Amino acid sequence: YVTSALRNHKDYNVWLIFTKVTNVSTLSYKFRDLIHNLLTVSSVPLKFNIIVDRVSQGIAENQIADLLYRNKTLVYSFYDIDESARKIQDIVEVMTPYFSSKPGTYYSDALFYISLGLYRIAPQNQHHAILLDCDLYFKKDIALLFAEFERFKPTALFGLAPELTPVYRHILHMYKAKHNTTFGDYYKSDAPSSNSIHSKGFQGYNSGVVLINLKAQRNSTEFPKIITNETVHRMTSKYRFRGHLGDQDFYTLVGYEYPHLIQTLNCGFNRQLCTWWRDHGYLKIFDKYFRCEHETLVLHGNCNTKIPK
Ligand code: UDP
Ligand code: MN
Repeated sequence: YVTSALRNHKDYNVWLIFTKVTNVSTLSYKFRDLIHNLLTVSSVPLKFNIIVDRVSQGIAENQIADLLYRNKTLVYSFYDIDESARKIQDIVEVMTPYFSSKPGTYYSDALFYISLGLYRIAPQNQHHAILLDCDLYFKKDIALLFAEFERFKPTALFGLAPELTPVYRHILHMYKAKHNTTFGDYYKSDAPSSNSIHSKGFQGYNSGVVLINLKAQRNSTEFPKIITNETVHRMTSKYRFRGHLGDQDFYTLVGYEYPHLIQTLNCGFNRQLCTWWRDHGYLKIFDKYFRCEHETLVLHGNCNTKIPK
C-alpha cells in the first residue's frame, strides 16, 4: 500500500496529545490501549510523538513500560505542552474567541489547536504527521491511513474525515435560514454530481484523525493568511458561526471557503460513535449524519462512548 517516498523517509509519525492526566483517569488506559493496538496492527515502523505535561509524562512512561514488558518495541519522543503552546500562541489567540467554549488557561486552550501549528513543533525532518485522539481503535493497518497521503490533491495540507453528527447543521442554523447551501447538510451519496466539491452535502470535519502534510504547510504562503484574525473573523461572520470544538470548527470553515486545502478522507477512517445529538433535538435526522457506507478502519469512541471491539 505504501509508496517508496514514505518508506524511504521513515516518515511514519504518529502524534498523540496526553495531558492533564491523573493515574485514575480513563485517558491513561485509552492511551495504553491505543499504542498497543497500533503496534499490533501496523505493518510499518511507527514513530510516536507524544505531547505531555510533567505529570502526564510520568504516567505515559509507566503505561509504556507496561507494554514493553510484553516484548514490544517502541520508538517514541516526548514534547512539552508548555513549550508547544508557546510556539503556537498566535494561532491559539486568534482561534479561541471563535471556537472555544470557555477560554481557559494558557495550555488547556492550546491543546485544541495543536494540529494547526504542529508544523512548528515537529522536527524539520518530519514531512508528514498523523495526529490521533487517544480514544481510537484501529481495526486495520495504520499503513492504510498513511497511504492516504498519496491520494492528496496537490493543494491539500490536511486530510480529515467527516463529522458524523448534525452539529454543524445546528451551528449554521441562522445562515441556512437565509441562504441556499449544502453546507451543514448530510451527505447524499446518490445526489447528482456537479463541479462543486460539496454539492452532495457537507457535514463538516472531525479532528479525531488529522493527516498533516507538514512540509507543504511549512512552504505554504497561503496558510499564514488563513490563520489570521482577519480571515477567521470574516469566515465566522459570514456564516454566523460560533463553535466550541476547537480546530475542527476551523477546518469545517476552511472546508467552506478554501476546500482546496483539505483532502476529505472517507468516513471509515474516523468512524465516530458519539450519539449525543440524537437525544438533543435531532432524533429524526441523526441517522442520516451518523451513517457511514465505507468499511470501518478506525473506530472513534468520542464523547466517552465505549468502543465495541
Ligand atoms: N486530551 C488530553 N487531555 C484531556 C483531554 C483531552 O490530552 O484532558 C487529548 C487526548 O488526546 C484526547 C483529545 O485531546 O483524545 C481529544 O479529546 P477527546 O477524544 O476526549 O474528545 P472527543 O473526541 O470526545 O470530542
Ligand atoms: Mn476523541
